[in-house]
Amino acid sequence: MRTLLTGGVVVTCDSDWTVHASGDLVLQDDLVLYAGPRYDGEYDARTDVTGRLVMPGLINAHTHTPMTLFRGLADDVDLHVFLQERIWPREIELTNSDAYAGSVLAATEMLKAGVTTCVDMYFFEDALVQAAIDTGIRAVVTPGILDAPVWQPILGTWEQRTAHVLDFCKRWDGHDGRIHTGVGPHAPYTLPLPALAEIAAEAQHAGLPLHIHLVETQEERAAFATRGLGSTVFALEQAGVLAGAVFAAHCVWLDDGDAAILAQHQVGVAHCPLSNAKLGAGIAPAAALLATGVQVGLGTDGAATNNNLDLWEELKLAPLLAKATALDPTILPARQSLAMATRMGALAIHQPRLGVLAEGYKADVLLLRLDDPAMTPVFDEATYMDHLVYAAGRSMVDAVWVNGTQVVRDGMVLTVDEAAVRDAAQRAAIAVSGRVAG
Ligand SMILES: [Zn+2]
Repeated sequence: MRTLLTGGVVVTCDSDWTVHASGDLVLQDDLVLYAGPRYDGEYDARTDVTGRLVMPGLINAHTHTPMTLFRGLADDVDLHVFLQERIWPREIELTNSDAYAGSVLAATEMLKAGVTTCVDMYFFEDALVQAAIDTGIRAVVTPGILDAPVWQPILGTWEQRTAHVLDFCKRWDGHDGRIHTGVGPHAPYTLPLPALAEIAAEAQHAGLPLHIHLVETQEERAAFATRGLGSTVFALEQAGVLAGAVFAAHCVWLDDGDAAILAQHQVGVAHCPLSNAKLGAGIAPAAALLATGVQVGLGTDGAATNNNLDLWEELKLAPLLAKATALDPTILPARQSLAMATRMGALAIHQPRLGVLAEGYKADVLLLRLDDPAMTPVFDEATYMDHLVYAAGRSMVDAVWVNGTQVVRDGMVLTVDEAAVRDAAQRAAIAVSGRVAG
């Protein structure tokens, strides 16, 4: 099946920042066949997209989809209170069907916002996969592993959990061309270093990426420092944890030299500026990481610390925080933020065939309405990229394709009944809270 989208403003997000002010995009099955000024070949279907901006789907490099069920339950508290008092007591009461309801709600919200790929770390991995299959989103599912007594009755020991996760990855990786997998050791504060080393060795042996939370808070960094092993990043490197394909969320409290270690090992970073700000955790040094050669993506984190999954907010906030912190408006330009949400985000999560509209890349595409007042005026091609970061938003998303299949039309998700999705999530959230209270 060859589909021609003709007459739109094609923002390719390639490394040359090519924009075709009136261009064509051709999708052939799950891939981009052509992105350029004019396509003269054959096609099966043709859609006039005049008045639309055509760009790669956004990549949410770090989230926990079922946590939509906890949206609004743990606001205005720090990470410790958030996890130990509000979230973990509820999480151990979750069922597979609760997790599915929350995950479908998250995918629906993300698809409507033009997010075509999400990196998801959670338990109930079967529910996460099913939600991705049913909604049509591309998901990198990295089941969480941790060593905490409260979780042992549910997940087993970390060794048992790791074996289970590896088996899960083997079963699902590559499914339908849009389910990808990896291992998700939660954080250096929820797993001992030897366990992290062993999990990493297993992941490397299986050729799987590893997704971890890393130095999110000052307390986490301070607690690790007392072990006398150097910085957390240095200790992970020494233990061999960074030897494979790794991507780390947050990286707020890095020590001198840590960015160079991350760059050397091609560790991708999922920058979550809004979640970090809301938890009062700090501001990750995104500009310094970029300058050191680290591939940085953008993540919303879970809906309980954000509280939405609208990556357009991160797209704008990341450069604003960098500028405000450095007192320098040039330090993180709009294009770099756009790259973090697309091409560079793909590299950060070790999915190099995503995030660009060019031949051979995956057909993950979003169309944005240009008839919004906030998108006017336009001076030249470059204006579009500035507008995407500083003026656009999820309400302008008109259509979305994932892996060559259209999943959003006229701003509506085609794969689900949105009202039913909201109802199911509402019921699940209330039921979980009821079980905790009981
Ligand atoms: Zn997280």
